[in-house]
Amino acid sequence: MIDACEQAPAWIRGIAPYVPGKPAQELAREMGMDEAGIVKLASNENPLGPSPKALVAMRAALEDITRYPDGNGFDLKQALMARYGVGMGQIVLGNGSNDVLELVARTFLAPGVSAVYSKHAFAVYPLSVQSVGATHIETPAKNFGHDLAAMAGAIREDTRIVFIANPNNPTGTFLSGADLLGFLRAVPRRVIVVLDEAYTEYLAQEDRYDSIPWLAEFPNLVITRTFSKAYGLAGLRVGFALAHPDVADLMNRVRQPFNVNSIAQAGAVACLGDDEYLARSRDINAQGMQRMVEGVTALGLDHIPSRGNFFCVKVGAAPQVYADLLRQGVIVRPVGAYAMPEWLRVSIGLSAENERFLSALAAVVPASARHR
Ligand SMILES: *Cc1c(COP(=O)(O)O)cnc(C)c1O
Repeated sequence: MIDACEQAPAWIRGIAPYVPGKPAQELAREMGMDEAGIVKLASNENPLGPSPKALVAMRAALEDITRYPDGNGFDLKQALMARYGVGMGQIVLGNGSNDVLELVARTFLAPGVSAVYSKHAFAVYPLSVQSVGATHIETPAKNFGHDLAAMAGAIREDTRIVFIANPNNPTGTFLSGADLLGFLRAVPRRVIVVLDEAYTEYLAQEDRYDSIPWLAEFPNLVITRTFSKAYGLAGLRVGFALAHPDVADLMNRVRQPFNVNSIAQAGAVACLGDDEYLARSRDINAQGMQRMVEGVTALGLDHIPSRGNFFCVKVGAAPQVYADLLRQGVIVRPVGAYAMPEWLRVSIGLSAENERFLSALAAVVPASARHR
C-alpha cells in the first residue's frame, strides 16, 4: 500500500470491498458468450423492465439536463407526501436507499459509539458503520432472521443506531408488524431504529403492515424505501427515508445537495402512482417464487422461505456451483460474505429465466447437497 494510504484510518483500510452481482456484459466478455443468452438473477432486480410511465417521464426530463436537479426534490416529495401522508420535512431523498442508509450512519455515528445489526443482515449496514469508524455489534441470527430480543438486549449506553431489514436481504426472512412494534416499544428513544423496507411492496396481503403511522409515536424511527426493487428502477438510483422532521433535518444537512439527479426524480414521480405495474411485479414474483421453491425442493435442496424477490438455496460448495452456473450462462449470487458459505442467493426472474436457472442447477449441483 502506498504511504498516503497507510495514513488512512485503520477502520477504512479494514473495509472488505462490496462485491456486487456480476453484470451480464462482464460474463459475456469473459466467457465469449452472447449477452442476450445470459440469465442474471444476481441483484434482486425487477425482471419486468421499467414502468412505461417512468420511461416517458424520464425521456421528457432529458430535455432539461443542462440544469442542476431540484436539490430539494419538490415534485418527488409532493408525490411521496400524497402517497404516504407525511410532511415535506419528514423526507430525505437518496441516490438509492443505500445513500440514505449511509446518511443515517454519517449523521449519528462517529468513532467511540456503536450500531447494532444482525448476523446475515444487509451488507450496507456493516459498510456504513465501518466507514465512519464506529463500532459494530452483530447479534446472532434466529433461523437466519433477526432475533429482535437479542438485538434489543445488545443495545449499550454508547449505541446510536439499530439496523433492521424487513424482509432481510440476503435471507428473505420476515418480521411481523406486531413484532416490530413490540421492538420499537422496547428500544430507548435516544437510539435511532432504521427500518429498511426495500422489499415491502412484494409482501403478500396477509403479511402487510403499515409502519408509517408509527413515525408519530416513535421519533427515533427511520423508515427507508427504494425504487430499485419492485419499482424496477435499480439503475436510476433513487430511494428515500421517512423520519421525524428533526431527524430528517440533520440527515439533510449531511446529504450532498444534488444527490438525486433530475432524471431519477422524474422517473420516480411518474411510477410512484403506478399501482398496476406494482401489482404485476408482485404477481410475477409470487408465481416465480412458487415455481423456484418447487424446483429446488424437487432437486432435494434446502431453501430459506423468503418474502422478497429472491431466495437462498443450499448447494454445498457454493463457490463451485456458482462458477459452474456461470459456465451455463446463469449468474446468481454467492453469499459467503454473509457467513453463508454453502448457500446461493437467487433472484426471481421471468418464467423462462427461472426455468433456465433450475435446469442449469440440476446439471451442476453436487449429489452431496441433495438430501433425498
Ligand atoms: C436492494 C436493497 C436496498 C436498496 O438499495 P438501493 O440503494 O435503493 O438500490 C436497501 N436495502 C436492502 C436490504 C436491499 O436489499
